[in-house]
Formats: sequence, structure tokens, C-alpha cells
Amino acid sequence: MAEPPLSADPSASTSASASPAPDHDPAFYTWSTFFSILTNTAPPTTRNAYFNHKDTLNEAADCARCEASKTWLFAYSPTIRFLRHHLDLLVTDPSAASITPENVRCRRCTTNQSGGFSPEHGILLCANHLRNRGHLEDTLAHEMVHAHDHLRFKLDPEDLRHAACMEIRASTLSGESVAGVREKAGSAECGQPSGL
Ligand SMILES: [Zn+2]
Repeated sequence: MAEPPLSADPSASTSASASPAPDHDPAFYTWSTFFSILTNTAPPTTRNAYFNHKDTLNEAADCARCEASKTWLFAYSPTIRFLRHHLDLLVTDPSAASITPENVRCRRCTTNQSGGFSPEHGILLCANHLRNRGHLEDTLAHEMVHAHDHLRFKLDPEDLRHAACMEIRASTLSGESVAGVREKAGSAECGQPSGL
């Protein structure tokens, strides 16, 4: 799958460890590192430390923006409302949970992903990797298709054919570009919208 499953309670930060704060003038650190990245002279470790540090500084603002966009999308996005309606139809057991704003969580991620779905925890949105509300909508829709397929079909995520089909369906049904879908999977066997 493009994104790894959530391995821990997403109520906690997904960060493995906070990036070290620069031990010199913050302005000097920001500009010298930023320009070394721009000129492609920064080594990968410096580049990663810089973005981790910025993500840590911006965590509260990123998560607040993500939460506001999530609330707006659940209320007004035709795509998200459509997917939620069909998810609700699949949940016949009163003790089971559908996808709601409460189990879609905005967190800072240190992994290279924009979101993830876990049957146990719900949907993770990586607030520091989402460029704008449109990107968040695409990511949320993608993960809601995974939630739909988890409820609708008996899928084995360890089976590579199942995993490929899940990614193709999530990508095509959430509106990702055709080129992106073809890049992700070499087969179009299960790429056509069928049951949703
Ligand atoms: Zn996916």
C-alpha cells in the first residue's frame, strides 16, 4: 500500500522523536539551511532535520488548519458527504463505528505519507504534509474508500493482489490523476468503479 497502517494509537503524536532544535541563531539556521536546500547542496540528513524542525514548530497551526478543513469538508464537500453516506449504509451493527469527524484525526507525521487508515483507529491525516483543503479532501476521500472496502469486502491486506486492488480502487474513486494511478499499480483489472 502507498501508506503504512497506523501502528499506534493516533491520539498520540506519530512523531518518533522531536527534531533537535538548532543550537545557534534560529534566523541564521533557517536562512542558511533554506538556501542550501534551494541550491541542492544540503545533505539529506540536514534537509530532513530542517523540515522536521519546521514541522515541529508549526504543529499546532497545521493541526488547527487541518481540523477546520476536516469539519468544513464533512459539512459541505459533496465527495466526502457521498462517501460518508455509503459508509453509514454499511454499518448495520450499532456497536460498530462508521467514519465520522471524531475518528478522523489530524496529526503531525514524520513518515512520508499524507494519510492512513486503520480498522482499529480510523483515519489519520498528516497535517504537516497537506498543502491545502483540496489536497486534504483527496487524502480523506482516498482513506474513506479504504474504510468502505474494509467494511464491504473480505480483504487480506497481507495479500499483494488484494493490496494492489485496494490502492487502485482508492486512487480511482477518490479522484487521483490517471497517471498517478497507473504509476501506483501495473494492473487495471480492479480499477473500474463497481460497487460504490
Ligand atoms: Zn491507499
